[in-house]
Amino acid sequence: MGEVALVTGASRGIGAAIARSLADAGYSVAVNYARSADLAEAVVSEITMSGGTAIAVQADVSDADAVAGMFATVTDELGPVTVLVNNAGITDDGLLLRMGVDQWDHVLSTNLRSVYLCTKTALKPMLRARSGRIISVSSISGIAGNPGQSNYSASKAGVIGFTKSIAKEVGSRGITVNAVAPGFIATDMTNALGEAVTEGVAKQISLGRLGQPEEVASVVRYLASEDASYITGQTLVVDGGLAL
Ligand code: NAD
Repeated sequence: MGEVALVTGASRGIGAAIARSLADAGYSVAVNYARSADLAEAVVSEITMSGGTAIAVQADVSDADAVAGMFATVTDELGPVTVLVNNAGITDDGLLLRMGVDQWDHVLSTNLRSVYLCTKTALKPMLRARSGRIISVSSISGIAGNPGQSNYSASKAGVIGFTKSIAKEVGSRGITVNAVAPGFIATDMTNALGEAVTEGVAKQISLGRLGQPEEVASVVRYLASEDASYITGQTLVVDGGLAL
């Protein structure tokens, strides 16, 4: 069997762009979604209509049983996962003094527990094969912090620490573990902030504009490729010069 990429939260936004990009590069792609079956099926159709191979697979990636079921389905239908992209993520912003414990737990569990669950499951066959790629989508908020996003920033900083630790654990087995840290990318997540906020943000970005999902996807595709064989434990910032 060939290379199999599993992309979490791939029904839209950055995840959908990563799924399309990896399919273009010849990977068989599993498009994970939590609720939007129709959007995930649309991504799959787009890939198959351009000659690629893809399936949609439902799972809430913060749920251990659902993650186990998702990997079993992907392995049966496409083969063992050789590239895992931990992309699924949410925001639920608020200043700390107004942030409820549910708000904290939901973001941490969707953005960080999911990375632990999916990476642990993906690693078992990768360790046997002595090769594999784990790529997680962190955020510039996890590096620089952002007021109103203590839960989100903590989860994304957690992804970076996790990435470095696992890179050290599995490097001797030929597996690389990296992260990307996008700045402001034009997706539903940032559209929710409204036009006034995004225009203000664009002024702080060296390149003077928000990024496109495809501009993150191309970096993930690079990290998945043989060209990135000697890069591990790194976080590549893709922010158009926002945090300089
Ligand atoms: P998005 O909201 O368009 O996409 C997020 C995807 O994750 C959605 O498809 C959603 O259904 C899925 N998802 C959410 N919870 C899930 C769960 N429990 N199980 C499975 N899937 C789940 O947002 P996006 O901008 O495309 O974000 C993708 C990733 O990039 C996220 O991790 C986000 O934190 C990160 N990121 C985005 C930006 C940005 O500016 N858009 C910046 C930095 C980092």
